[in-house]
Amino acid sequence: MAKKLERIGVLTSGGDCPGMNAGIRAAVRTALAAGVQVTGIRDGYSGLIEGDLVELDRASVGGIISRGGTILGTARCVEFYEHSGREKAIARCREVGIDGLVAFGGDGTFRGAAKLAEESDLRVVGVPGTIDNDIPGTDFTVGFDSAVNTALEAIDKIRDTATSHERLFLVEVMGRHSGFIALYAGIAGGAEEILVPETPTDVEALAEELARGRARGKRSSIVVVSEGDEAGNALEIAKQLGELDPGYDVRVSVLGHQQRGGAPTAFDRVLASRLCSRAVGELVSGNTDLMVGIHGGEVVTEPISRAWEAGRTELPADLIELYRTLAT
Ligand code: ADP
Repeated sequence: MAKKLERIGVLTSGGDCPGMNAGIRAAVRTALAAGVQVTGIRDGYSGLIEGDLVELDRASVGGIISRGGTILGTARCVEFYEHSGREKAIARCREVGIDGLVAFGGDGTFRGAAKLAEESDLRVVGVPGTIDNDIPGTDFTVGFDSAVNTALEAIDKIRDTATSHERLFLVEVMGRHSGFIALYAGIAGGAEEILVPETPTDVEALAEELARGRARGKRSSIVVVSEGDEAGNALEIAKQLGELDPGYDVRVSVLGHQQRGGAPTAFDRVLASRLCSRAVGELVSGNTDLMVGIHGGEVVTEPISRAWEAGRTELPADLIELYRTLAT
């Protein structure tokens, strides 16, 4: 029988995303319902090293489900990459009686958590939170749906003005290595083209395709560009397009960090609540070295190493085909 869990720590680490607060709330309330106390750790692994901790009770997580960001703060902690930094974190857990950890963040956060479990008897479970949706082991990460909806709202507005003025807009969305936000927001916004880091971009062919659409009578075109597209960012691609005559005046809109903030969508609130609650359930059952995820609508667990060992998350081929069919 696993030792009874007395106290868990909850931290958010790496890049923030909408839905983290909903997840913190669910972790706290699930733990308390199981008779487990909860320590909130501020600013990711830094808070564990520095002892920047806060007791979380039911009331302390009231009224946060609708708020973007994370009430615990997040940070990247260089010291934690070193064994000596992690020893300080482990000593802190022993000092305050933390015997389980919910680590909410990206694959870097999971790697750090796995090392903690390897070097101590701490139990750890990772919850995938990133707007990029690029963590293997889950169909969706917390924050992705909110970021897509933020991008979509902007794309819809840009479409209005683009159509009025007969313009081509390149709308740059986040995604340095992943085209998920571009693909989903592009399909939902009826984009003419979607440029993602996962596939090569031929700017000449793009200009020809846009010019063909213009010749068929289109009043506007929207090209959604992932910031990490290998042909360049939206400004660079616009410059190249401008020299090739795509048939319209070209404008650029870079959406930027607003995609990381704002109220989480209902989907993200429910997802974060389900995943964080299950993460606590796993810790209470004595399990460790897991990540939680959603697969086919069900909450599932995977070894935490899946997040960095499974390779890159592929964009669904059927979605790429779908956007091409609908855009032409
Ligand atoms: P994300 O969790 O969004 O992928 P990072 O890669 O920055 O973001 O990771 C967040 C934090 O997790 C880092 O600042 C560091 O403290 C810790 N971390 C990341 N990778 C490792 C690792 N290989 N070993 C130990 N700690 C790590």
